[in-house]
Amino acid sequence: MTEVVSTVVDTVRSVYETFVGKGGAVKDVAVEEARHKKDRLREVNDEIMHLRHRGMDRGGLSDQERKRWHDLREEREELLGKLHQAKEVKAAEKILDSEAVLEKVEVDLETTHVLQYNAFADTLGKTCKCGRPMKLQWQRDLNVAGPRDFFWACTGWYVPVGEGRACTRREPLQRSDYALMTDTSAPEFSITAEEFGVILEDPGTAKIITSRVNDLRSDLASKKQGVELATCPVHGQNMVLRKKSNPTGLLDAYFLACPHWQPNGQGCSFIEKLKSGSQLAALLKAETGRGIL
Ligand SMILES: [Zn+2]
Ligand SMILES: [Zn+2]
Repeated sequence: MTEVVSTVVDTVRSVYETFVGKGGAVKDVAVEEARHKKDRLREVNDEIMHLRHRGMDRGGLSDQERKRWHDLREEREELLGKLHQAKEVKAAEKILDSEAVLEKVEVDLETTHVLQYNAFADTLGKTCKCGRPMKLQWQRDLNVAGPRDFFWACTGWYVPVGEGRACTRREPLQRSDYALMTDTSAPEFSITAEEFGVILEDPGTAKIITSRVNDLRSDLASKKQGVELATCPVHGQNMVLRKKSNPTGLLDAYFLACPHWQPNGQGCSFIEKLKSGSQLAALLKAETGRGIL
C-alpha cells in the first residue's frame, strides 16, 4: 500500500510542477479565477435556458439567436474544461498537503464509509478517457456497501445526446485510487462503518443532525447559494440542498440538486441523494466546518 501511495504522490507532484512551470494558476489565484469563471458560467447557463424557452414559445429561433445559442454552448464547454482543470489543481494540492496521512488509507469492510464520505466532493481528480471527470458511485440500495460495490462512472452519463448519453464508461475501483481519498482526518474515521451506523440510529443524534442540516439549508436558501462541496457535471454550478416533503427518516430526507433541476423532470437530471451518514457528515464538514461527530 505504501508503495502504491508514493507512486501516486510522485506522479501528482510531477504533473503539478509541470503545470506550475507553464505558468498555470495555483492556490489562491486559481481559486479566485475559478470563482470568476463560475459567475460567468451561471450567466451563460441562464442565457441558454432563456433562448431555449423562447424557442419553445415561438416554435423556433432566428438565425441570429441560433448563432448566439451555438456560441454560448461553446463558451460553456470551454468554461467547464477550465473549471475542471482548476478542480484537478485543487485535488493535487490536497494530495500533496496530506501526503503524511495518506499512508494510513486502507479501505476494507470496516472503512467503506471513508469512500462514501469522499465520494461526492468532486475534487477527487479521476478523469475518464473522454476527458470528463469521473464520479465514485455505489449501489444505493445496499444498507452496508462493501469495497467491491464501489465503481467509477463518467459524468458524461448525465449529458443527454439525442436519445442517448455522452459517455457511459464505468471502471472498477483500484487500490491505487484509495490515494485519492485524502480527507481521512475526520473523527468519523476513527470508528468503523458499523459503529458509525449505530450512532446514526440513535434518535437523539438523528434529531441533532436533522436540525443542523435544516439550519444549513435555510442559511443557504436565504443567501440564494448552493453548496461548495459539489457541482453539477453538466452545468458546473454549485448544487442546491433540498428536502423531500414526506421523508421516512434522516437518511431519506435530503438531496442535492442542480440549480436547473425541476421537480417534473423537465430540467437537469443530476441529483445526489444523501442516503448515508458519511455524506451528511461530509456536507456538514464542508459547509459548516464541523462534521457529525
Ligand atoms: Zn467519459
Ligand atoms: Zn445541471
